[in-house]
Amino acid sequence: MSAPLQPRLDRAMSSVTIPPPECMLRPLEVPFRYLFGPGPSNVPPRVLAAGGRGIIGHLHPEMYEIMNDIKKGIQYAFQTQNNMTIAMSGSGHAAMECAVFNTVEPGESVLVAVNGIWGERVAEIAERMGANVHIMVKAPGGVFSNGEIEKALAKHKPVLFFLTHGESSAGLAHPVDGIGDLCRKHNTLFLVDTVASLGASPIFMDQQNIDILYTGSQKALNAPPGTAPISFNERACQKMFNRKTKPVSYLFDMAHLSNYWGNDGQPGLEESWRHHREVAGYLWKGLEDMGLKLFIQNKDLRLPSVTTIAIPEGYNWREMLQYIMKHHNMEMTGGLGPSTGMVSVRGVLKF
Ligand code: PMP
Repeated sequence: MSAPLQPRLDRAMSSVTIPPPECMLRPLEVPFRYLFGPGPSNVPPRVLAAGGRGIIGHLHPEMYEIMNDIKKGIQYAFQTQNNMTIAMSGSGHAAMECAVFNTVEPGESVLVAVNGIWGERVAEIAERMGANVHIMVKAPGGVFSNGEIEKALAKHKPVLFFLTHGESSAGLAHPVDGIGDLCRKHNTLFLVDTVASLGASPIFMDQQNIDILYTGSQKALNAPPGTAPISFNERACQKMFNRKTKPVSYLFDMAHLSNYWGNDGQPGLEESWRHHREVAGYLWKGLEDMGLKLFIQNKDLRLPSVTTIAIPEGYNWREMLQYIMKHHNMEMTGGLGPSTGMVSVRGVLKF
């Protein structure tokens, strides 16, 4: 006969040699901060409240309904009718890896436009999975002409070309028009990163012939981090589902994800672009009135959601950012990768 329950429980508890840490006995405290960095951004109360809803099972019919609604929302925000549209669990990096892992096989040629840190990252992701990576490089904030892109497409014959639409390390909104057509002509898939720009700066996935588009939840979409919307068109699906090898990641394998999402847009997107542009305009003017110089000089090329300020001569950027955080509770950052120390970066606060 087994021992009575209470003595068994006592014995099990006495075998705990590591006591509960004190921090687990205290309520969690999160200070209020104005998040002026290039993401995460402050989240409106309505969105915070949605995160506090009860949990349901991932196979419940209500869950599938919610997922269908999410998909319609992403199709609208991306301006696409692509059936293969999902929200991945994970930050923007998850979508970067998902896009590359699913559409490229080891040994295939990939072309990456590098004019800030995000191109560098995608080149590394593609290299790690064994792709034959070619890069086109410009200084942070540099713009690639369609002619330069076409020359590189013809030379390297890549299966995938990567471009960052909103280069948050430089504050650049890269023009996209015409590049999708060039990629089609050269039988290349066109992959665009809009993590820092979606909802702030216009993008039209279908009209601009973008084959794969992804973004992140915590920037202009004003949601908590941890979700990465991504969409693949027919051309991308053709390549993705006719591969000889399995993608290197199980978690990010679109064969599983598309199955789970059961793959099948309205008001406010133009208003969101207009709003970002208008608010950024006030910020740019205010900064220039203070005598500061903006890093991207051509107004039309400035990313409305991320403003980059050239570090004034004679100032230490780290000290400036620490001062702003300490005295004004404001987070700003000091550039990323190749732009580190050249700029300080802030997003646009929206409520
Ligand atoms: N791409 C761009 C353009 C970004 O700005 C970021 C985040 N700063 C990412 C990708 C990566 O997203 P996450 O931090 O959500 O992984």
